[in-house]
Amino acid sequence: MDRRSIIKNAGIAGILAAGAAPAVHAQAAIRWRLASSFPKALDTIHGAADTFARVVKNMTGGKFEVSVHAPGEIMPAFGVVDGVQQGSVEIAHTAPYYFFGKDETFALGTAIPFGLNSRQMTAWMYEGNGMKLMREFYAKYNMINFPGGNTGAQMGGWFRKEIKSVKDLKGLKFRVGGFAGKVLDRLGVIPQNIPGGDIYPALEKGTIDAAEWVGPYDDLKLGFNKVAPFYYYPGFWEGGPQLDFFINDKAFNALSPEYKAIVEAACAQAHSDMQAKYDARNPAALKQLVGSGAKLREFPKDVMAASFKAAMELYEEVSAKNENWKKVYTDYSKFRADSNLWFRFTEAKFDSFMQAQKL
Ligand code: CA
Repeated sequence: MDRRSIIKNAGIAGILAAGAAPAVHAQAAIRWRLASSFPKALDTIHGAADTFARVVKNMTGGKFEVSVHAPGEIMPAFGVVDGVQQGSVEIAHTAPYYFFGKDETFALGTAIPFGLNSRQMTAWMYEGNGMKLMREFYAKYNMINFPGGNTGAQMGGWFRKEIKSVKDLKGLKFRVGGFAGKVLDRLGVIPQNIPGGDIYPALEKGTIDAAEWVGPYDDLKLGFNKVAPFYYYPGFWEGGPQLDFFINDKAFNALSPEYKAIVEAACAQAHSDMQAKYDARNPAALKQLVGSGAKLREFPKDVMAASFKAAMELYEEVSAKNENWKKVYTDYSKFRADSNLWFRFTEAKFDSFMQAQKL
């Protein structure tokens, strides 16, 4: 379309709009600080924040810069929600379930025991009601969220001693992420909520008896295999834990429409990149861990069954006393039921056949 026909078709409003179009190149310079809950050494999970910052910078020709800060640099790992809520940083990258002590509903933004897997979580967020419901909830904390990565199903962690039945969980001091502690303490576990960077020394000193983090690639980097030999699976409390970018709502709303779109696109890229990194890097790390003496063990059936029962009871109890949780969990659990009905015919059958082949 030539200039004359634009004028003819669009009239004065169109000319003004056309004149405003190149404004993406005339955006104000923006500087944001991002507080991460994850140690720099983890290129997977900390790396999502670096990906976000890099994409935002590249898409704005360097006008919008985000500095990424590891825990302790400007605030502690578990201080980031307060930081974003109060506006002391514009953005954080974290696992929402760390904050279930404020309200159990935070757990539904990451993972709950026997919850959604990674594919299901992304589907619930982007195409189900997940994003809408969680945003309504996070608005109470002056935050807007964007999905910021998923680890996929995790391992069950590193234990100094073998777990042969549910009885062996009694009195076990176990570093376990998020809401899982509320289930496991019903089986006698003494759950410990410790940031990633502080787990190794606690396990080495024997302050704790067992610790889970994510999976082979990260666990190898953090060195847990050196201090606890038994490596359990599956991490049934984290079938598909999602990380989030939490953005202070005033800071986000102050952005131009173009910058808002860029932030959204950068978060989406960080979200898919993280899962790809884990899926690509975990296989070799698992081989390396087993080669260096890690003993793989499946959780006993009675541990799985007792944990499942305890989890479902807990969700009923929380639903009875927490309206925020009830509203989100009602939708979440329906999505889980429908999705598992579908996947049982497709992903589950295909995966189990392929994994049994000798290729
Ligand atoms: Ca974990």
